[in-house]
Amino acid sequence: MAFTLAPLLYAHDALEPVIDATTMQIHHGKHHQAYVDNANKALAGTALENASPEEVIKAIASLPAEKQGPVRNNAGGHVNHTMFWSIMAKPGQGGGGAPSGDLAAAITKAFGSFDGFKEKFAAAGVGRFGSGWAWLCVMPDKSLAICSTPNQDNPLMGRALAGCDGTPILGLDVWEHAYYLKYQNKRADYIGAWWGVVNWGAVASNFAMATK
Ligand code: MN
Repeated sequence: MAFTLAPLLYAHDALEPVIDATTMQIHHGKHHQAYVDNANKALAGTALENASPEEVIKAIASLPAEKQGPVRNNAGGHVNHTMFWSIMAKPGQGGGGAPSGDLAAAITKAFGSFDGFKEKFAAAGVGRFGSGWAWLCVMPDKSLAICSTPNQDNPLMGRALAGCDGTPILGLDVWEHAYYLKYQNKRADYIGAWWGVVNWGAVASNFAMATK
């Protein structure tokens, strides 16, 4: 069963002024679509052809050597972007604000405060050389940890491949294609503004699933 590109749950301009509509159109309609198409091409005929996207990226090492690179990049890109769209919402209508409940408590426990968390997470995104992602993950002991991965790697791929592990509940795309039209080289400004569209309700749902 081939992967498909799900429609966004909001309009392309819903995240304005934080993320502009043109960036959303190209990022979702062109970049994410290409990851889906290329993942399907790479997976066709392999033992993971019918696996879920998450199952695929956890099992890259089981694939033939020549498939591993294309699947890592493109199934990784598919999983990463699917999460990215899902944890954002229109500012003031689900986007922005602060976490609450169990998630807020876990963030305070791990990082001292919500502001302390935002500072460390932003540093992970700003500090990623070239293209990649910043992540907030639930670790096996249910604590929270921040990490960053290069390219389209995902913590679900495991520490040996991605350089970090855990179950991601929040991911931030710091590829230039995610912000360059509006922010040019100012990645820190993009990250600073991005908090205004983070859907903490969706992140809390991810947290509840990952700690169940
Ligand atoms: Mn992207």
